Amino acid sequence: MRATAACVLALSVGLAAAAAGQTLSPTARNTPAPTPTAATAGCTNPNALGISRIVEIDTTGGPGFGFEHFKEHDFLRAKEVVLTFDDGPWPKNTPAVLAALASHCTKAVFFPIGKHATWEPGILKQVAAAGHSIGTHTWSHQDLSKKSKEEAIREIEMGASAVHMAVGGPTAPFFRFPALRHPPEMVKYLGERNIAIFSTDMDSFDFTMRKPEQVIKSVMGKLEKHGKGIVLMHDFQHGTAEAIPELLNQLKANGYKIVHMVPRAPLQTIAQYDEMVMKENKLPTASTRPTESVVRTISEMPR
Ligand SMILES: [Zn+2]
Repeated sequence: MRATAACVLALSVGLAAAAAGQTLSPTARNTPAPTPTAATAGCTNPNALGISRIVEIDTTGGPGFGFEHFKEHDFLRAKEVVLTFDDGPWPKNTPAVLAALASHCTKAVFFPIGKHATWEPGILKQVAAAGHSIGTHTWSHQDLSKKSKEEAIREIEMGASAVHMAVGGPTAPFFRFPALRHPPEMVKYLGERNIAIFSTDMDSFDFTMRKPEQVIKSVMGKLEKHGKGIVLMHDFQHGTAEAIPELLNQLKANGYKIVHMVPRAPLQTIAQYDEMVMKENKLPTASTRPTESVVRTISEMPR
Protein backbone atom coordinates (compact mmCIF):
# COMPACT_ATOMS: atom_id res chain seq x y z
CA MET A 1 0.00 0.00 0.00
CA ARG A 2 2.28 2.66 -1.30
CA ALA A 3 0.12 5.66 -0.71
CA THR A 4 -1.57 5.11 2.62
CA ALA A 5 1.05 6.97 4.59
CA ALA A 6 1.23 9.76 2.11
CA CYS A 7 -0.75 12.87 2.39
CA VAL A 8 -0.86 16.34 1.03
CA LEU A 9 -1.09 19.01 3.63
CA ALA A 10 -2.03 22.59 3.15
CA LEU A 11 0.89 24.62 4.29
CA SER A 12 0.94 26.05 7.72
CA VAL A 13 4.57 26.36 8.65
CA GLY A 14 8.15 25.46 7.99
CA LEU A 15 9.89 24.70 4.76
CA ALA A 16 7.12 26.02 2.61
CA ALA A 17 7.01 29.34 4.35
CA ALA A 18 10.72 29.67 3.84
CA ALA A 19 10.30 28.72 0.21
CA ALA A 20 7.76 31.48 -0.22
CA GLY A 21 10.11 34.00 1.28
CA GLN A 22 7.77 34.55 4.19
CA THR A 23 8.51 34.47 7.86
CA LEU A 24 5.99 33.30 10.39
CA SER A 25 6.13 34.13 14.07
CA PRO A 26 6.07 31.18 16.50
CA THR A 27 2.47 32.01 17.40
CA ALA A 28 1.47 31.76 13.75
CA ARG A 29 2.25 28.06 13.82
CA ASN A 30 -1.03 27.33 15.51
CA THR A 31 -3.14 29.56 13.32
CA PRO A 32 -4.23 29.00 9.74
CA ALA A 33 -1.60 30.11 7.26
CA PRO A 34 -2.30 33.31 5.38
CA THR A 35 -3.12 32.76 1.74
CA PRO A 36 -0.14 33.68 -0.39
CA THR A 37 -1.14 36.14 -3.07
CA ALA A 38 0.35 37.82 -6.07
CA ALA A 39 0.98 40.82 -3.88
CA THR A 40 3.62 39.04 -1.83
CA ALA A 41 6.14 41.36 -0.26
CA GLY A 42 8.68 42.59 -2.75
CA CYS A 43 6.68 41.78 -5.85
CA THR A 44 6.53 44.88 -7.98
CA ASN A 45 4.59 43.44 -10.91
CA PRO A 46 0.91 44.38 -10.47
CA ASN A 47 -0.09 41.64 -12.94
CA ALA A 48 2.00 38.91 -11.33
CA LEU A 49 0.67 35.39 -11.13
CA GLY A 50 2.19 35.03 -7.69
CA ILE A 51 1.44 31.90 -5.69
CA SER A 52 -2.14 31.17 -4.69
CA ARG A 53 -1.38 28.19 -2.46
CA ILE A 54 1.58 26.30 -1.10
CA VAL A 55 1.20 22.60 -0.38
CA GLU A 56 3.60 20.60 1.72
CA ILE A 57 4.17 17.04 0.53
CA ASP A 58 4.79 14.21 2.97
CA THR A 59 6.84 11.91 0.73
CA THR A 60 6.71 8.96 3.15
CA GLY A 61 6.04 5.79 1.16
CA GLY A 62 6.71 7.45 -2.22
CA PRO A 63 3.32 8.90 -3.23
CA GLY A 64 2.68 9.42 -6.95
CA PHE A 65 1.42 12.64 -8.54
CA GLY A 66 0.17 13.34 -12.03
CA PHE A 67 -2.99 11.77 -13.42
CA GLU A 68 -1.29 10.39 -16.52
CA HIS A 69 -0.07 7.59 -14.24
CA PHE A 70 -1.17 8.12 -10.63
CA LYS A 71 -4.73 8.59 -9.49
CA GLU A 72 -4.41 8.65 -5.70
CA HIS A 73 -4.05 12.34 -4.95
CA ASP A 74 -6.42 14.69 -6.71
CA PHE A 75 -5.44 17.71 -4.64
CA LEU A 76 -5.63 20.58 -7.11
CA ARG A 77 -8.72 22.77 -7.19
CA ALA A 78 -10.27 24.18 -10.36
CA LYS A 79 -7.91 26.49 -12.25
CA GLU A 80 -4.92 25.52 -10.11
CA VAL A 81 -1.65 24.80 -11.91
CA VAL A 82 1.71 23.38 -10.83
CA LEU A 83 4.56 24.32 -13.16
CA THR A 84 7.35 21.75 -13.53
CA PHE A 85 10.55 21.94 -15.58
CA ASP A 86 12.78 18.99 -16.54
CA ASP A 87 16.27 18.29 -17.90
CA GLY A 88 18.15 21.40 -16.73
CA PRO A 89 20.18 23.11 -15.59
CA TRP A 90 21.21 24.51 -18.95
CA PRO A 91 22.98 27.76 -19.92
CA LYS A 92 20.73 30.58 -21.13
CA ASN A 93 17.49 28.56 -21.11
CA THR A 94 17.28 27.83 -17.37
CA PRO A 95 18.22 31.43 -16.41
CA ALA A 96 15.58 32.70 -18.88
CA VAL A 97 12.92 30.53 -17.23
CA LEU A 98 14.06 31.74 -13.80
CA ALA A 99 13.82 35.37 -14.89
CA ALA A 100 10.29 34.89 -16.21
CA LEU A 101 9.15 33.13 -13.03
CA ALA A 102 10.74 35.88 -10.93
CA SER A 103 9.00 38.60 -12.89
CA HIS A 104 5.70 36.88 -12.04
CA CYS A 105 6.75 36.32 -8.41
CA THR A 106 5.89 32.67 -8.77
CA LYS A 107 7.50 29.31 -8.13
CA ALA A 108 7.90 25.95 -9.85
CA VAL A 109 9.32 22.47 -9.35
CA PHE A 110 12.52 21.62 -11.25
CA PHE A 111 13.71 18.11 -12.12
CA PRO A 112 17.37 18.50 -13.13
CA ILE A 113 19.56 15.78 -14.63
CA GLY A 114 22.51 14.77 -12.44
CA LYS A 115 25.19 15.19 -15.11
CA HIS A 116 23.83 18.57 -16.12
CA ALA A 117 23.95 19.60 -12.46
CA THR A 118 27.65 18.74 -12.28
CA TRP A 119 28.29 20.81 -15.42
CA GLU A 120 26.26 23.84 -14.31
CA PRO A 121 26.15 23.90 -10.51
CA GLY A 122 26.05 27.70 -10.50
CA ILE A 123 22.80 27.76 -12.47
CA LEU A 124 21.24 25.14 -10.20
CA LYS A 125 22.24 27.22 -7.19
CA GLN A 126 20.29 30.11 -8.76
CA VAL A 127 17.23 27.85 -9.02
CA ALA A 128 17.56 27.00 -5.32
CA ALA A 129 18.22 30.61 -4.30
CA ALA A 130 14.98 31.67 -6.02
CA GLY A 131 13.03 29.31 -3.74
CA HIS A 132 11.90 26.77 -6.31
CA SER A 133 11.59 23.12 -5.32
CA ILE A 134 14.36 20.95 -6.79
CA GLY A 135 13.74 17.24 -7.30
CA THR A 136 15.79 14.88 -9.49
CA HIS A 137 15.54 13.15 -12.86
CA THR A 138 18.32 10.48 -12.88
CA TRP A 139 22.04 10.79 -13.45
CA SER A 140 22.10 10.56 -17.24
CA HIS A 141 18.47 10.48 -18.40
CA GLN A 142 18.25 6.76 -19.14
CA ASP A 143 15.00 4.91 -19.72
CA LEU A 144 15.04 2.91 -16.48
CA SER A 145 12.60 0.33 -17.83
CA LYS A 146 15.48 -0.90 -20.01
CA LYS A 147 18.01 -1.15 -17.20
CA SER A 148 18.87 -3.81 -14.63
CA LYS A 149 17.72 -3.13 -11.09
CA GLU A 150 21.26 -2.27 -10.03
CA GLU A 151 21.78 0.11 -12.95
CA ALA A 152 18.43 1.79 -12.41
CA ILE A 153 19.12 2.36 -8.71
CA ARG A 154 22.51 3.81 -9.60
CA GLU A 155 20.87 6.20 -12.09
CA ILE A 156 18.35 7.35 -9.47
CA GLU A 157 20.83 7.70 -6.61
CA MET A 158 23.70 9.29 -8.55
CA GLY A 159 21.22 11.79 -9.94
CA ALA A 160 20.01 12.59 -6.44
CA SER A 161 23.57 12.89 -5.10
CA ALA A 162 24.75 15.06 -8.00
CA VAL A 163 21.84 17.48 -7.73
CA HIS A 164 22.18 17.67 -3.97
CA MET A 165 25.91 18.34 -4.28
CA ALA A 166 25.46 21.00 -6.96
CA VAL A 167 22.83 22.83 -4.93
CA GLY A 168 24.99 22.65 -1.80
CA GLY A 169 21.88 22.64 0.38
CA PRO A 170 18.57 20.88 0.87
CA THR A 171 16.78 19.41 -2.15
CA ALA A 172 13.36 17.78 -2.43
CA PRO A 173 12.68 14.02 -2.34
CA PHE A 174 10.76 14.44 -5.60
CA PHE A 175 11.62 12.30 -8.65
CA ARG A 176 10.47 12.13 -12.25
CA PHE A 177 11.28 9.12 -14.45
CA PRO A 178 12.80 9.95 -17.87
CA ALA A 179 10.22 9.58 -20.64
CA LEU A 180 7.66 8.87 -17.89
CA ARG A 181 8.56 5.19 -18.02
CA HIS A 182 7.79 3.71 -14.60
CA PRO A 183 9.30 0.25 -14.03
CA PRO A 184 7.32 -1.26 -11.10
CA GLU A 185 10.47 -2.36 -9.31
CA MET A 186 11.75 1.22 -9.25
CA VAL A 187 8.37 2.61 -8.16
CA LYS A 188 8.65 0.21 -5.22
CA TYR A 189 12.25 1.29 -4.58
CA LEU A 190 11.29 4.97 -4.45
CA GLY A 191 8.53 4.06 -2.01
CA GLU A 192 11.12 2.49 0.26
CA ARG A 193 13.30 5.59 -0.12
CA ASN A 194 10.36 7.88 0.73
CA ILE A 195 10.75 9.79 -2.53
CA ALA A 196 7.60 11.11 -4.23
CA ILE A 197 7.10 10.27 -7.92
CA PHE A 198 5.99 12.96 -10.33
CA SER A 199 4.31 12.02 -13.56
CA THR A 200 2.20 14.81 -15.05
CA ASP A 201 -1.39 15.81 -15.61
CA MET A 202 -0.49 17.18 -19.00
CA ASP A 203 2.66 16.82 -21.03
CA SER A 204 3.31 19.94 -23.11
CA PHE A 205 5.48 17.94 -25.56
CA ASP A 206 7.52 21.14 -25.76
CA PHE A 207 10.59 19.11 -26.71
CA THR A 208 8.97 18.53 -30.09
CA MET A 209 8.44 22.27 -30.66
CA ARG A 210 10.86 24.92 -31.82
CA LYS A 211 8.59 27.96 -31.76
CA PRO A 212 7.49 29.53 -28.47
CA GLU A 213 3.96 30.08 -29.86
CA GLN A 214 3.56 26.32 -30.22
CA VAL A 215 4.51 25.73 -26.58
CA ILE A 216 2.04 28.38 -25.37
CA LYS A 217 -0.74 26.96 -27.55
CA SER A 218 -0.05 23.43 -26.32
CA VAL A 219 -0.10 24.30 -22.62
CA MET A 220 -3.07 26.68 -22.77
CA GLY A 221 -5.07 24.23 -24.92
CA LYS A 222 -4.47 21.32 -22.56
CA LEU A 223 -5.25 23.43 -19.50
CA GLU A 224 -8.50 24.55 -21.08
CA LYS A 225 -9.43 20.91 -21.58
CA HIS A 226 -8.37 19.67 -18.11
CA GLY A 227 -9.19 22.83 -16.13
CA LYS A 228 -6.20 22.36 -13.79
CA GLY A 229 -3.10 20.28 -13.42
CA ILE A 230 0.61 19.60 -13.08
CA VAL A 231 2.22 20.80 -16.33
CA LEU A 232 5.41 19.19 -17.65
CA MET A 233 7.82 21.46 -19.56
CA HIS A 234 11.59 21.59 -20.09
CA ASP A 235 13.85 24.45 -19.00
CA PHE A 236 16.42 22.67 -21.17
CA GLN A 237 14.49 23.69 -24.31
CA HIS A 238 15.11 27.01 -26.02
CA GLY A 239 11.56 27.31 -27.36
CA THR A 240 10.16 26.81 -23.87
CA ALA A 241 12.51 29.37 -22.34
CA GLU A 242 11.31 31.87 -24.93
CA ALA A 243 7.67 30.94 -24.35
CA ILE A 244 7.53 31.25 -20.58
CA PRO A 245 7.09 35.05 -20.21
CA GLU A 246 4.03 35.09 -22.49
CA LEU A 247 2.74 31.77 -21.15
CA LEU A 248 2.74 33.20 -17.62
CA ASN A 249 0.97 36.33 -18.87
CA GLN A 250 -1.72 34.16 -20.47
CA LEU A 251 -2.12 31.99 -17.37
CA LYS A 252 -2.76 35.14 -15.37
CA ALA A 253 -5.12 36.61 -17.96
CA ASN A 254 -7.14 33.39 -18.02
CA GLY A 255 -7.56 33.19 -14.26
CA TYR A 256 -5.22 30.28 -13.52
CA LYS A 257 -3.58 30.11 -10.11
CA ILE A 258 -0.17 28.71 -9.27
CA VAL A 259 0.27 26.12 -6.54
CA HIS A 260 3.77 25.56 -5.22
CA MET A 261 4.65 22.04 -4.04
CA VAL A 262 7.32 21.83 -1.36
CA PRO A 263 8.64 18.83 0.58
CA ARG A 264 7.91 18.29 4.24
CA ALA A 265 11.48 17.02 4.74
CA PRO A 266 14.58 17.23 2.55
CA LEU A 267 16.06 14.42 0.47
CA GLN A 268 18.62 12.20 2.18
CA THR A 269 21.34 11.09 -0.22
CA ILE A 270 23.37 7.87 0.16
CA ALA A 271 27.13 8.27 0.84
CA GLN A 272 28.15 5.49 -1.55
CA TYR A 273 26.54 7.35 -4.48
CA ASP A 274 27.84 10.74 -3.34
CA GLU A 275 31.31 9.22 -3.70
CA MET A 276 30.52 7.81 -7.14
CA VAL A 277 29.51 11.27 -8.35
CA MET A 278 32.68 12.79 -6.94
CA LYS A 279 34.74 10.18 -8.74
CA GLU A 280 32.95 10.98 -11.99
CA ASN A 281 33.97 14.59 -11.61
CA LYS A 282 37.67 13.96 -11.09
CA LEU A 283 40.14 11.13 -11.12
CA PRO A 284 40.80 10.13 -7.53
CA THR A 285 44.36 9.92 -6.24
CA ALA A 286 45.76 8.68 -2.94
CA SER A 287 46.78 12.22 -2.00
CA THR A 288 44.31 14.57 -0.37
CA ARG A 289 46.85 17.31 0.35
CA PRO A 290 45.84 20.86 -0.62
CA THR A 291 47.42 22.40 -3.71
CA GLU A 292 49.48 24.91 -1.75
CA SER A 293 51.29 22.08 0.00
CA VAL A 294 51.91 20.23 -3.26
CA VAL A 295 52.86 23.13 -5.56
CA ARG A 296 55.15 25.79 -4.16
CA THR A 297 56.67 28.75 -6.01
CA ILE A 298 60.43 28.71 -5.45
CA SER A 299 61.48 31.22 -8.08
CA GLU A 300 59.61 33.98 -9.86
CA MET A 301 60.47 36.76 -12.29
CA PRO A 302 60.23 40.20 -10.70
CA ARG A 303 57.18 42.20 -11.84
ZN1 LIG B 1 13.59 14.40 -19.11
